[in-house]
Amino acid sequence: CRKMAKSKFEYVRNFEVQDTCLGNCWVVVRVDGRNFHRFAEQHNFTKPNDVRALQLMNRCAQNVMEELDAICLAFGQSDEYSFVFHKKSNWYKRRASKFMTHVVSQFASSYVFYWKEYFPDVPILYPPGFDGRVVLYPSEQNLKDYLNWRQADCHINNLYNTTFWSLVHKGGLTPVQAQIRLKGTLAAEKNEILFSDFNINYNNEPLLYRKGSVLIWQKVNEVSKKRIKLPNEADEKEVEVSRWRNEIVELHCDIIGDQFWEEHPSILSD
Ligand code: ATP
Ligand code: ATP
Ligand code: MG
Ligand code: MG
Ligand code: MG
Ligand code: MG
Repeated sequence: CRKMAKSKFEYVRNFEVQDTCLGNCWVVVRVDGRNFHRFAEQHNFTKPNDVRALQLMNRCAQNVMEELDAICLAFGQSDEYSFVFHKKSNWYKRRASKFMTHVVSQFASSYVFYWKEYFPDVPILYPPGFDGRVVLYPSEQNLKDYLNWRQADCHINNLYNTTFWSLVHKGGLTPVQAQIRLKGTLAAEKNEILFSDFNINYNNEPLLYRKGSVLIWQKVNEVSKKRIKLPNEADEKEVEVSRWRNEIVELHCDIIGDQFWEEHPSILSD
């Protein structure tokens, strides 16, 4: 009979490996666009920063935070986004594959779903893919240092790219010449090239490019007007009702240093 057949085959389930994330650790999932160097080229992203592409990434991350459980912070730059699940989260019994695959598939489908809102006049030429990884951080300091690392990466790449593309677009150098010009230069020298050759003060470049994007939940008080009928009165009356609602806010600020965490003490609290 069918029931016996099912139990006969069911032993194969034991081939599945257990992948529970260690308790009380912060779970970070990072996704990164697959071969986005090519994707950016094929879809004519503006260099060094295509603002539409960055906003689309932020829109996708917002969808991931809204759809999935217990993400307390997300940080994005370039073609990557990191999602922090609260250390107390017991979502899907903390199975790593659930955390990772839900994030990466929700993100990838959002990228295609929201594409035309950000690129109304650019057809998407092929379905993009994203990789994903899970990393556990056992202390709050480890987690903060992870985020510091990603923001420092954003800064270093953006300073390089801003200088590189200034040399190409405004300085008339070929990409190879620009690469040679920048080889071995320190941050101070890149700042100097930008300032003296192109009159660009790097610190005045948009924060979105220099700092990346942080998404966090914030409680907002929502006031709306409602018409109600009181039992003792004949007519309907308009009253104001207010309620607290959780909303995602997008920030472009330093997360390196204490100020961000002092200003938002509840992000990592229980
Ligand atoms: P991999 O598959 O290994 O991740 P990759 O080509 O995606 O390869 P990354 O190191 O992830 O390499 O770099 C992403 C690349 O995507 C950048 O170097 C840049 O060329 C491009 N890119 C991503 N976002 C933007 C953007 N907003 N504007 C312009 N270019 C972008
Ligand atoms: P979970 O997130 O746990 O996977 P789920 O709702 O996706 O929850 P599944 O056990 O994966 O639960 O079952 C998928 C459900 O999707 C089915 O029970 C059925 O209702 C629906 N479904 C999937 N494919 C089809 C289909 N081709 N036609 C009709 N219904 C479908
Ligand atoms: Mg890479
Ligand atoms: Mg990539
Ligand atoms: Mg990348
Ligand atoms: Mg299902």
